[in-house]
Amino acid sequence: MTFQHHWHDGEAIELTTKKVVCAGLNYALHVKEMNSKAPDTEPVLFIKPATALQTLHAPLSIPKDRGAVHHELEIALLIGRRLNQCSATEAVSSISGIGLALDLTLRDLQTELKKAGRPWEKAKGFDGACAISHFVPIRQCPPLDNLDITLSVNGSPRQHGNSRDMLFPIPSLLCAISEYFTLEPGDIVLTGTPEGVGPLSGGDQFSMRLGQVLQLTTQVAP
Ligand code: ZN
Repeated sequence: MTFQHHWHDGEAIELTTKKVVCAGLNYALHVKEMNSKAPDTEPVLFIKPATALQTLHAPLSIPKDRGAVHHELEIALLIGRRLNQCSATEAVSSISGIGLALDLTLRDLQTELKKAGRPWEKAKGFDGACAISHFVPIRQCPPLDNLDITLSVNGSPRQHGNSRDMLFPIPSLLCAISEYFTLEPGDIVLTGTPEGVGPLSGGDQFSMRLGQVLQLTTQVAP
């Protein structure tokens, strides 16, 4: 079954996601909290399959009995035009909409896999690992270098980020992605998480916001 995306006014989007390309370690303070090293010349990239998509506009399902499930709040880009080895201008004009995402991460498993030098797909690409909101059409969004995002859980602020703090800003991130992975209309790009990642549990209430253009409140399924 393919995942149906929507605009924030409820209208269905006529694009199908084939893959979600994600940036890791794209905010300095998150790099620090992970005790990691910042990427220098190229971003850290990984892919979630289309089967990882679930909506943020319903109770969130998270894996049970697989250790800590962390939220990573991210700006999500909906790609509307094919991108391959693109220029920054092409990159910017390929974005049709912006939304919010939770890059759900099985943190204990990821730590174990990293330690063993193995790929972390199972920790990041499992079914439901990419929770995605409705999208705001690009013309209604703030500038790409001033997208503000917040997440609070059970009323407490957990994550706050702004795209101006990205190590690889959106245009150069898209160019770097398109050197390795052709982006097709409907594909989604997650742009990395700011600091403040942490665990989610069944029953948690959470709210997310993208500037003044998108806001949602939901809960983790009990
Ligand atoms: Zn992430």
